[in-house]
Amino acid sequence: MKITAIKSHVLAYDLPDGELGYSQQYYTRRTAHLVEVSTDEGVTGWGECFGPGGVALVNRTIVEQVIAPMLIGRDPLERSACWHQVYNLLRDHGQKGMPMQALSGVDIALWDIAGKIAGLPLHAMIGGKQRDRVGVYGYGMMLKRESTDDHVARFKDEAQVIRDAGFHATKMKVGLGLRADIRLAQAVREGVGDDFPLMVDANHCYTAGDALHVGQALDELNAFWFEEPVAPEDHDGYRFLRERLTTRIAGGEAEFTRFGWRDLLASKGLSLAQPEVCALGGISEYLKVLALCQANMVPVMNHVWGSAVAVATNIHLVAALEPMPGGLFPSEPWLEFDTTHNAFRDELLEEPLHIQKQVAAEKGTVAVLNKPGIGVDPDRDFLAHYAVESERP
Ligand code: CA
Repeated sequence: MKITAIKSHVLAYDLPDGELGYSQQYYTRRTAHLVEVSTDEGVTGWGECFGPGGVALVNRTIVEQVIAPMLIGRDPLERSACWHQVYNLLRDHGQKGMPMQALSGVDIALWDIAGKIAGLPLHAMIGGKQRDRVGVYGYGMMLKRESTDDHVARFKDEAQVIRDAGFHATKMKVGLGLRADIRLAQAVREGVGDDFPLMVDANHCYTAGDALHVGQALDELNAFWFEEPVAPEDHDGYRFLRERLTTRIAGGEAEFTRFGWRDLLASKGLSLAQPEVCALGGISEYLKVLALCQANMVPVMNHVWGSAVAVATNIHLVAALEPMPGGLFPSEPWLEFDTTHNAFRDELLEEPLHIQKQVAAEKGTVAVLNKPGIGVDPDRDFLAHYAVESERP
């Protein structure tokens, strides 16, 4: 069996509800970057690369101009050998960031092919499912160009909507400034009530000292986790916060490969690890990072972003996550779900995942997927309709 082609599909559309933002930027377009690997036996694998906008266009160039020439002609079942061939040659040009995002999408597609050849769903390929349904948390409450008072009112309402939609927990953005951010978190706590798990995502907008100030308010509010409080490079800042706050410190979506994760975990600053399979190096590398997290006794809550391919991949991965630590009533990992408009998640597939409908009908959970591989088939007409060639995505 041989790989015959590796093609990127970069998709984009204008968000219908206007601009959305987090602590680093506002954006008006949704982008997705899917990778399709074809073989001489007619089996096709699908993967996805993390990275919006122009990042997706650069990653497409890496996939099609750098990685594809290395792998075309190779056996797609030799996933680890393919991964190391690419990584060893890209090591001089980027051990983190876009080269690894590009490799991630290719690796995921190779796992999809392997599952289809074996006739096994991805979760069965990586050790088997630990649960039949996966709990889902809904994030929303994005920043907009509006006053703090308007943010406070909107966040409180949105938090109630997410809770009432059936999700197991919710996550909000911060990034307006210390006093405003604390007001936002207080409003969301009021919106969801005392007992509902509430997470706060700073997208690394604070210094460690400022994050401590906000984190102390989050302790008062019984927040479940405080995500990316400081820059991903600031391992000392992570440890400083973890030593001083009760709220769990979460992060890792901007870390790559077993080598980056080795150093992040060694710094002892994480209470929860959030590996991003579409960025850190794909499923092959995710499994190594997962082992490192387990060896460091740090529970994993996957970072999830992107299209139905990324979401489906993560349903398999979360289904297979071992309880950490074990027990009669272990903490369950949740699937992250973006509640804002995303046609690439909801309309991409010939058979949609219907996450929101399942969450509403099935106590905040989605069913584990049982078709071979990742088990998703993107609609070709949909891909053609949203395809981006060279204009600004
Ligand atoms: Ca985040």
